[in-house]
Amino acid sequence: YTQAKALVFSHYGEPSDVLHLHQHSISPSLPPGAVLVRTLAAPVNPSDVNTVQGTYAAKPTFTTLLGTPAPSAVPGNEGCFEVVALGPGVAETGTLARGDWVIPSTTGFGTFRTHALVDNATKSLLRVCDAASRAGLTPAQVATVSVNPCSAYRMLRDYVDLIAQSVAAFAARPDTTGGGAWFLQNGANSGVGRAAIQLGALWGLRSINVIRERDTPAATAALRDELLALGATVVVTEAEFLNREFAASTLKSLTRDGRDPIMLGLNCVGGKSAAGVVRCLAPKGTMVTYGGMSRQSFPFPTGPQIFKRLRFEGFWLSEWSKENPAEKRRTIEEILGLIKLGKFKEAPVEEVRWEWDTEEKVLKEAVQGTLQGFRSGKGLFVF
Ligand code: NDP
Repeated sequence: YTQAKALVFSHYGEPSDVLHLHQHSISPSLPPGAVLVRTLAAPVNPSDVNTVQGTYAAKPTFTTLLGTPAPSAVPGNEGCFEVVALGPGVAETGTLARGDWVIPSTTGFGTFRTHALVDNATKSLLRVCDAASRAGLTPAQVATVSVNPCSAYRMLRDYVDLIAQSVAAFAARPDTTGGGAWFLQNGANSGVGRAAIQLGALWGLRSINVIRERDTPAATAALRDELLALGATVVVTEAEFLNREFAASTLKSLTRDGRDPIMLGLNCVGGKSAAGVVRCLAPKGTMVTYGGMSRQSFPFPTGPQIFKRLRFEGFWLSEWSKENPAEKRRTIEEILGLIKLGKFKEAPVEEVRWEWDTEEKVLKEAVQGTLQGFRSGKGLFVF
């Protein structure tokens, strides 16, 4: 029997109140089609906290499969796992083998656990690499590839054709060295934001990136430099961005008085920051909202909607993935390829080591801490 531990919750609430560390054992005789995996790394994303709080749109399924007194669910949607044992019939499919590194192929997997018995393994898991082909990849990179980078990739490509816009602009004025089409984003130092900066730069796009001011000017400058090093064109603090002078002057010169228009805004934050993004969009521009970190809504201003003919879209990776499973897999493979080539850097993390005797309190706090702002990186359980 394999001894395993999982963070579980049986009712919604704050992670530090409702999560429990539950120990259980997994029988060595696996059901047909199942595999046993051991977790190598799992990030704590904001949506994982919202799921435990009960405020996330996708609700978990509560079961007694792990032998908890009350039906429970395991939070966590992303992770990198190693296949340790195969049930009958799996090896014959040729798609999974012992030692493979795999990630969940859908959301709601429950990754905050040391091991998982995965039914219908060839459907539920995506093989990333076998022991021979993992050179250049770390568990942290594999564990964090499917949500943030994938979301950034799709939002930059599926709403406005910025690459075509860049090509057309270049054709119109090949003598200038202005650069590709602009996009604008808030929450630029988030995992999604950092991915968008890098992918945008790889695709020849220019980005205006809004961050929140740090507690010292030096810390703000350091974060600005970090994002510039990733490929950001411009980094501004929220205070600078929300100052009326920004739209009136800085933006005017960056966009050559609107001749290099901002057609795409990515909104991670909501509230005043989102209203600022709306103000900067060019006529017929699109704002894609994917996060609400400030927990505040923003007005859809009537005038700009009509007279600038703006478009407001929402992005939700879970639904996009259900609708486009093959493209999801391809997107992940492309990003992993970029990582292997050293062209894409994973977002910084705060590692939390999950050893066999790590206390429940430490693990719960790592989950709870995710929604605190001004962090150096999101939490990553490392096993
Ligand atoms: P990270 O944990 O990497 O970063 C969190 C970001 O939120 C940081 O930029 C942080 O800025 C900012 N932030 C935290 N608190 C506040 C606040 N009170 N006001 C303004 N900004 C704040 O996040 P992810 O990249 O994983 O996720 C970012 C958002 O995107 C989340 O809302 C997440 O749910 C959403 N998301 C949505 C997806 C979808 O399919 N719709 C897919 C992936 C992510 P600071 O450092 O200044 O605190």
